[in-house]
Amino acid sequence: MQEKIKMNVPLVEMDGDEMTRVIWKDIKDVLITPYIDLKTVYFDLGIKKRDETEDQITIEAAEATKKYGVAVKCATITPNAQRVEEYNLKQMWKSPNGTIRAILDGTVFRGPILVKNIKPFVKTWEKPITIARHAYGDIYRDAEMIVGKKGKAELVFAGEDGQVQKELIHDFEGPGILLGMYNLDKSIASFARACFNYALDREEDLWFATKDTISKKYDHRFKDIFQEIYDKEYKEKFEAAGIEYFYTLIDDAVARVIRSSGGFIWACKNYDGDVMSDMVATAFGSLAMMTSVLVSPEGYYEYEAAHGTVTRHYYRYLKGEKTSTNPVATMFAWTGALRKRGELDKNDDLVRFADKLEKAALNTIEAGIMTKDLALLAEGDKQIVNTMEFLEEVNERLKKSL
Ligand code: NAP
Ligand code: MG
Repeated sequence: MQEKIKMNVPLVEMDGDEMTRVIWKDIKDVLITPYIDLKTVYFDLGIKKRDETEDQITIEAAEATKKYGVAVKCATITPNAQRVEEYNLKQMWKSPNGTIRAILDGTVFRGPILVKNIKPFVKTWEKPITIARHAYGDIYRDAEMIVGKKGKAELVFAGEDGQVQKELIHDFEGPGILLGMYNLDKSIASFARACFNYALDREEDLWFATKDTISKKYDHRFKDIFQEIYDKEYKEKFEAAGIEYFYTLIDDAVARVIRSSGGFIWACKNYDGDVMSDMVATAFGSLAMMTSVLVSPEGYYEYEAAHGTVTRHYYRYLKGEKTSTNPVATMFAWTGALRKRGELDKNDDLVRFADKLEKAALNTIEAGIMTKDLALLAEGDKQIVNTMEFLEEVNERLKKSL
């Protein structure tokens, strides 16, 4: 056996829930710790621990990411009423991803993991479409209210200088609902810069879309900030690189995306990015074949899978069934984090290992060996395997390449 690859600086490891928690450990046991002298600072973001610590553990994990720079996160349960009952929770804790993003700020880039034997549902898509999701504010940090009776709702801003701005929202005749949300110029500007930089990095066009015709102040502000920063800081660089930035309405963007051949970055506001990345991922094949990384303006990175905790598979696992859950996205979260750690620490062995592990996974699928979700999509010969068998097949190929 070769000597294990050393790490100088630890990764921040955020464990999670259900099926992905099971896969998390399997990936480490089969594909990582046999080859790497793995150093991590471990945070258990599983729902029990979050409940036990009043969600402090999530905040600590985000703070640790600021300290060490690179994190890898397992999918976690975002509690709803049903989960509160299922896990007997003290409270309906906020989305851990929402909490982490609020602390780190930044932009989430999500792109498909392409393999030769899976063709996108959209026939014209030849190249990947990367979604850049603003990861701060809007409905993920909103205040909501259920209104039970007749009355007036107003938007009120009390300036520190004593000045008050007021706007009527609605004169309620009866029961209804209310929502207040916000964003910050600073966060929008760093979102814009992250997108422009990423586009230059990949030499791909950047598209941005909102609903500024309806949201004449809120969405319009996003549009203006992007344009100002583009004109001042990026226009020349884009022209030199032969790439384009363009803004359009979100409904127009959706139509154009479907007719496009791919190969661009689509910048989306927080909610649009949440929804559109699921759509784009599914159209490229599967949510389980999607990478996701949060890049903060200070240059902190958090890698995760784009899918959830795969609850339905977990319930089958609890009954003793071997499930065919696709571990690729979670694996790529690990390789993404290890590669970035390697780049930052000038640890070439770590970078090479990440490359080889990804290659081994793609080769396995291209050889026709895959989990059930992909078998429905793939062309040619295929052999459906369970998660552990898949990881072992990847390991066989990894061993040969090392
Ligand atoms: P999900 O876990 O992504 O799963 C939805 C369905 O998609 C699964 O039932 C499965 O379909 C398929 N799927 C997703 N990932 C797969 C994989 N790796 N391999 C094979 N099939 C896969 O979404 P959900 O059921 O809506 O949410 C479950 C929990 O995850 C919720 O508690 C939610 O809060 C949480 N969540 C967390 C994150 C995050 O931490 N980033 C993101 C989204 C959701 P079949 O059952 O048909 O096989
Ligand atoms: Mg989503």
